[in-house]
Amino acid sequence: MLCGPFHGEDVVVKAASQHDLKGMTRLLDEAKNYAQLLPLQGKALPRGKLYVARNPPVPPQATTAVPVTKYYGRTLAREVEDRDRTASESCERMPSIFRQRIISTVAEVHDLGMELGCFALNHIVRDETGLMVMVIGIADAKPHSCGRPEYFEQGMVAPSAEDYECEELHYLCMDMHMWLHGL
Ligand SMILES: [Zn+2]
Repeated sequence: MLCGPFHGEDVVVKAASQHDLKGMTRLLDEAKNYAQLLPLQGKALPRGKLYVARNPPVPPQATTAVPVTKYYGRTLAREVEDRDRTASESCERMPSIFRQRIISTVAEVHDLGMELGCFALNHIVRDETGLMVMVIGIADAKPHSCGRPEYFEQGMVAPSAEDYECEELHYLCMDMHMWLHGL
């Protein structure tokens, strides 16, 4: 039973075998990214904590990193898999207020100097109101200096990727059909 910051809450526990160096590196990368994005924890990312397990307790030890994050519910991808929503209902046919919420959540990550790297419906969790959006699975996040313009106007003609100067948010806005197709 977990004590401390997650007492009484549902959590996600990720672990890698001590022999799985690649998996372990990925967990450490994700934990590092959670630390970097600490101000967004509980807002745009789940609250998280890295536990380090040493087994056996005396040297020589194998160290295992175990990131623990609060569980906020199923991802949009899982909702589609469970047939509670179609893929388009989780993307371009989602009410625009929810799509905007997803985009602004990702933009908050960019404003803290990171981009998510690999981003899809399996990285988004939202609650029933749709207004709480959490980004999960941030092992691929990397440093990013966001050059997107100040403006964001739904329904305008899509700017080119070069003009928008942020590939990830441009792709997301296009994918979510936030802009009109150019002529
Ligand atoms: Zn950006």
